[in-house]
Amino acid sequence: MARIAVVGGGIAGLSCAWKLQRAGHDVTLLEREAVAGGRMRSERIATSRGVFVVDRGAQFVASGYRNLHAVADALGLASKRHFVGRTSNAILRDGRLHPGDYGSLRELARSKLLSTRAKLRLPRLLLELAKQRRHLDAYHPERAAAIDRESLAEGLTRVVGAEAMEYLFSPAFSSTFDADPEDHSLAFALLTTRFVLGGFRLQAFDGGIGLLGETLASQLRVRTGCEVTAVETSAGGARIGFRDADGGEATLDADAAVVALPGSLVADVVRTLTPEEQTFFDQVRYVRGMVCFLMTDRAPASLPWYGVAFPRREQIGLYGMAVDHWKPGVAPAGAGLVNAALTAEAAERLRDAPDAAVVAHVLDALAKTPIGRLDPIASAVHRWDPMLPLFPAGHLKRLAAFEERGERSQRLAFAGDYLIGPYTEMALTSGLRAATDVARGLAL
Ligand SMILES: Cc1cc2nc3c(=O)[nH]c(=O)nc-3n(C[C@H](O)[C@H](O)[C@H](O)COP(=O)(O)OP(=O)(O)OC[C@H]3O[C@@H](n4cnc5c(N)ncnc54)[C@H](O)[C@@H]3O)c2cc1C
Repeated sequence: MARIAVVGGGIAGLSCAWKLQRAGHDVTLLEREAVAGGRMRSERIATSRGVFVVDRGAQFVASGYRNLHAVADALGLASKRHFVGRTSNAILRDGRLHPGDYGSLRELARSKLLSTRAKLRLPRLLLELAKQRRHLDAYHPERAAAIDRESLAEGLTRVVGAEAMEYLFSPAFSSTFDADPEDHSLAFALLTTRFVLGGFRLQAFDGGIGLLGETLASQLRVRTGCEVTAVETSAGGARIGFRDADGGEATLDADAAVVALPGSLVADVVRTLTPEEQTFFDQVRYVRGMVCFLMTDRAPASLPWYGVAFPRREQIGLYGMAVDHWKPGVAPAGAGLVNAALTAEAAERLRDAPDAAVVAHVLDALAKTPIGRLDPIASAVHRWDPMLPLFPAGHLKRLAAFEERGERSQRLAFAGDYLIGPYTEMALTSGLRAATDVARGLAL
């Protein structure tokens, strides 16, 4: 049995610690915040209308998340997972909302979102997916390094044309990953599309997405309020320096460590990176962003969808919104709970503005659409930095080089969504893999 320190209590760190503990190791997880969960946690907000559950970060899981479901089932959470009541989407074009179900070509063919000419080009995406098939494994994105040459914006314009790019794919990706299409690669888009087409019904846990992290944390030794400032590893073990909940400096010695921080923070903390690791981490980028939740007395009749996306040509200042009250147990009966993600440009502009200004931006934006002006009884603004990892053209090549690096930090493994994909399934998968890696390193 080895003593292993896990740094960072998001879903990657929690799943890693859980797997290591099940294998018999003595695991301590250090988390900076007062509660674990990171970008997958829920908070309860009491209002005059009752209690709302606001999911901070991740909003849903999907039927195709095989590792996440395996962990949830092992924790006895299978009966707490339900399909989201409404999963259809709409996209704004020329001031009107059109059904734009990303997974249904038949639905898209019927909708007036795109011209006939643009619709006729859509099957080209299926051809591109078939052509690149051997490179496309969402669980191993580094295998697509050979086709990681152009941005999502350039690549999809080439494949499906400018209209479908601007009014279908760009809004779909931007409202899901909170970034502009120039900031991700075509290879990333193909990997994600293939994964979604493999089965992607939206699901949520009863009473909030945070249930998974809360359950994992309850079974582990988690030290919250501990900000890790230094990780040093060598052939002899690992030393973790941190500021504890009382502000005192402390150290923890272990046989090995797993660093499960967002990739953009790793190089600030790990002092013993190899030159190849340092080069990789210097180039990992995350988007900064903002999400605003609105709680309303009644569920707005103008929002029969789960998701609404706003193409940038509509100039709404939002990437999209999600209608949370279709999820089980998150809003009092009949009440409304929605969230809207600001565009990167609007989020930067309003970064230091008071929350009321952010809420006003969202209400004004929605008032310009058929959704109309909402009248919230309460709101919550989340400012994220880092928010979601970017997979720009070139990231998969760097990822492949990182995976194959000749010289590795001893007694150290890494976990986080930047290693596989910007969603919970891939963060959790990276945690399970890091557990295997670090245990293998100890056995050598
Ligand atoms: C707004 C938003 C919406 C999303 N929607 C979805 C969705 O609907 N579905 C989906 O599947 N995914 C979604 N995601 C993505 C998903 O939430 C993330 O990919 C996943 O939760 C990342 O997990 P992680 O463990 O890699 O990182 P994190 O959750 O960021 O965990 C890192 C942890 O490290 C801690 N930490 C940081 N610095 C230190 C330090 N110095 N010392 C100690 N601890 C430290 C942090 O507090 C955090 O708890 C969304 C993300 C965001 C932000």
